[in-house]
Amino acid sequence: MFLPEPIQRLIDALSRLPGVGPKTASRLAFYLLRSPDELSSELSEALATIKTDIAYCQRCYNITTAGRELCEICSDSRRDQNLICIVEEPLDVIALERTGAFEGVYHVLDGALSPIEGIGPEDLKIQELMARVEGGEVGEIIIATNPSMEGDATAMFLQGQLKGLVARVTRLARGLPMGGDLEYADQNTIQRALAGRQEMK
Ligand SMILES: [Zn+2]
Repeated sequence: MFLPEPIQRLIDALSRLPGVGPKTASRLAFYLLRSPDELSSELSEALATIKTDIAYCQRCYNITTAGRELCEICSDSRRDQNLICIVEEPLDVIALERTGAFEGVYHVLDGALSPIEGIGPEDLKIQELMARVEGGEVGEIIIATNPSMEGDATAMFLQGQLKGLVARVTRLARGLPMGGDLEYADQNTIQRALAGRQEMK
């Protein structure tokens, strides 16, 4: 099908996004074409600055605004700095924060161990986590990696690393759907998993 180059270019770019097939990409592109100019200019501005205006917190590796050394959670004095919840992705932080039930801080691993994909401990923010644990007085670490094979393997690995260094290492309670992502679980499920967390032995 012949399409003018600018719209084909947009469709091609949109189709490269996860979960967006060629059909959805075409629908979105034509939607943007028909909608008021503000929408496309707002989108293009947001896209243009997403890489330059976002930085990673130097303590927990969650995303934050560029120019800040620590994210809002790490710099919040009301949060318990000795209670660390380990997650795979920044989206998991958002999922946990939405429950409003967690008062500690986070550590974002930037993925999970996966021998198949060639992701080893050195590819994750594990060294940074160990430095953080060794430099502080962490009372409890909650491992909240996803309930998947990779998430479980990562939890086991971390437990081995943290043994003897932290008083209490816990894992979110089961109840999260196996193979599902934390980010897709609803608030109540996450809240229950958090409340029912169990010590890893
Ligand atoms: Zn942080």
